[in-house]
Amino acid sequence: MLSVAIDGPAGVGKSTVSKLLAKKLGWNCLDTGALYRAFTVKCLELNVDFESDISIVEASKKIKIFVKYIGGTQHTFANGKDMTSFLRTEQVDKLVPIISKVKEVRQSIVKLQREIATQENVVVEGRDIGSVVLKDSVNKFFLTASPEIRAKRRFDERTAKGEKVDFLTILTDISKRDKLDTERKTSPLLQAKDAILVDTDNLSIEQVVEKIFENVKV
Ligand code: C5P
Repeated sequence: MLSVAIDGPAGVGKSTVSKLLAKKLGWNCLDTGALYRAFTVKCLELNVDFESDISIVEASKKIKIFVKYIGGTQHTFANGKDMTSFLRTEQVDKLVPIISKVKEVRQSIVKLQREIATQENVVVEGRDIGSVVLKDSVNKFFLTASPEIRAKRRFDERTAKGEKVDFLTILTDISKRDKLDTERKTSPLLQAKDAILVDTDNLSIEQVVEKIFENVKV
């Protein structure tokens, strides 16, 4: 099976770019952040203590994440419940890096990602796709943009959805997540040695998609 691995920090535009690229290729797109987010929402439902790795590991034994494509759109389930509409909140933004640094949580979520990638051609976007999950993929890209630009994109995206959000809160949260994601011991956010770096600061979404598309080997 063929894959494209797209990694990069929070708010860099990975989801939008990956979805458009997948459409262009006629493949599905796997948003791996959604898997960690669905896990987090389930932990909230189970009243897990986020300050205790032991509680998170215990919860991970009871949480089963799976993905289904409905009309070409990814739906992410935890223990049979569709979590898709609960994934993108400020509360989940804050808590998700805490569970995603726990080794046991990553192991089960990475296993799921690999299973999906062996079943179909897929564009996979996340933090550790090129460096860990799909190390053997021949198509690896790493997107970057300054924290301010990324916060502005997130702000615009959420405002467009009618959410009331504060720019500085988003910027602070993005910087905190960058720090946690880059400094964690297990599978930190990292550009794989063989990944192509795409600086998106001065590029439109379409230009980023085009740049990646023309470098994809199929
Ligand atoms: O991409 P998104 O912002 O939805 O990711 C949410 C969080 O999930 C990240 O901040 C990171 O902590 C975690 N994540 C991860 N590895 C991935 C994808 C996401 O650790 N492959």
